[in-house]
Amino acid sequence: MTLEEQDKQYILQTYARDYTNFVKGVGSTLYDEKGKDYIDFASGIGVNSVGHGNDILTSAICEQVKNIIHISNLQVIEPQAKLAQKIVELSGYDMGIFFANSGAEANEGAIKIARKYGETKFNNKRYKVITLEHSFHGRTITTVKATGQESFHTPHFSPYPDGFSYEKSIEDVYKAIDDETVAVLIELVQGEGGVQPFEKGEIQKLARHLKTKEILFIVDEVQTGVYRTGEFLASNLYEIEPDIITLAKGLGGGVPIGAVMTKHKEILSVGDHGSTFGGNYLSTTAGLAVLDILTSLYESGTLDEVLIYFSQKVKELVDKYTHLFEKEVGLGLMRGLRARNTEIQAEVLKNCLKEGLIVLKAGRNTVRFLPSITISKNEIDEGFKRFEKAISAL
Ligand SMILES: *Cc1c(COP(=O)(O)O)cnc(C)c1O
Repeated sequence: MTLEEQDKQYILQTYARDYTNFVKGVGSTLYDEKGKDYIDFASGIGVNSVGHGNDILTSAICEQVKNIIHISNLQVIEPQAKLAQKIVELSGYDMGIFFANSGAEANEGAIKIARKYGETKFNNKRYKVITLEHSFHGRTITTVKATGQESFHTPHFSPYPDGFSYEKSIEDVYKAIDDETVAVLIELVQGEGGVQPFEKGEIQKLARHLKTKEILFIVDEVQTGVYRTGEFLASNLYEIEPDIITLAKGLGGGVPIGAVMTKHKEILSVGDHGSTFGGNYLSTTAGLAVLDILTSLYESGTLDEVLIYFSQKVKELVDKYTHLFEKEVGLGLMRGLRARNTEIQAEVLKNCLKEGLIVLKAGRNTVRFLPSITISKNEIDEGFKRFEKAISAL
């Protein structure tokens, strides 16, 4: 039985899967079982923030797992408390943190906090959450309903929880607010929806408005967080102070972890929320190592150099291949090329893999780049060389 046959027989087929079998990773290079190398511009969908086989991360994990991997949240967990302090300090916001295991779960926590806030802070019960079209917030029944893409709300899984509505633009959010609205949930750069950043002034204005209305501003930083945009949080880059922020993807460097942080530390009390695995020794030790690696990259100025270098390369491509790409989109190390149509997008993705380059797709015909934050200039050069080769015939 081949690996592909085994996968098809025993794994529920929920992904349009590629069957390249990767067996080794070094930095931003992956090797398949035949020894062919691939430059990784996807980093496991923004997860391998410090690349593959990072010495500092792997030795921190190995040391920890030889000792305690997991106890329960009924006991205090030292690396969990340390990681929470580190995240709060880096963010600059006076917040408390709850650790979960994924982005969807972090957003579930955010919605629970908002619901309880809406239940306890006002005379009438407020429960409605406004999100945006082209957003993505996760795959649980609630977060799929929070996702502003109709294709996700298939009748197969209905009925969905009430209280979510979607607006076309930030401007439309103002009109949608009513006296049952408790929160607005957005990504500052819509990732899955097409690597589309919002304008800073527009976001700051919304933040001020929500504050005067005592409506919570929830920023989903599952993809934008942990230095992806060049700052620790995209909220730092946009210079706003959200009520609630969610994190996941890049935080554990590949170890599953999610986090919801809020300045409303008093809302949840004992028994309101929980998670068996959330914030255990393994994931929070990984998170601490990831933040050590990335903060020194940030402080040395290397991160800034890398993201300017990467964005220059993307700009050169748009200028050179106008017949394929409409424009470049994104921020920091979260970049995309808007293909002129879906066929071009599909061809680019297919050819890249053939040429030994892993890129991602995203909504609105976007070819997406989410390299690891530690990617080297050499790997960037080699990746774009392969990209040009892949698209040269199109
Ligand atoms: C990936 C993603 C999620 C979902 O994260 P999971 O870990 O897959 O549950 C939620 N929000 C955003 C913005 C994401 O990019």
